[in-house]
Amino acid sequence: MSDCIFCKIIAGDIPAKKLYEDDEVMAFWDIAPQAPVHFLVIPKKHLAAPVDVEEVDDRVIGKLIRIGAQLAKENGVGDGFRVIFNNGKKAGQEVFHIHMHILGGRERPWPL
Ligand code: AMP
Repeated sequence: MSDCIFCKIIAGDIPAKKLYEDDEVMAFWDIAPQAPVHFLVIPKKHLAAPVDVEEVDDRVIGKLIRIGAQLAKENGVGDGFRVIFNNGKKAGQEVFHIHMHILGGRERPWPL
């Protein structure tokens, strides 16, 4: 998607502080962290939002969780982190390329 900021990060057209990359998935630090550890894990396939995930995407979406948990451990928050997908403007989604937030390193009461 030519107008998608995360597709541009995947293509290397916009810089990001990468934590992980393979042929299907990329993880990078959030540019405006909301916790001491805050990074995003995305599929390279452009899907706008969780509501756009289809059965064919089940495996890679599971992989986001596995890679996110692995990176949380590697970055010192394996014992406690939040996993968040925002879906739609009403839920605060700002970037319309599906992404999984991993946040750790500070206490935060559910559901805030
Ligand atoms: P959401 O509100 O769920 O769409 O979250 C989008 C997230 O992407 C926010 O936490 C932003 O800080 C983050 N973000 C936007 N642009 C960039 C960028 N160029 N590099 C890293 N993170 C970004």
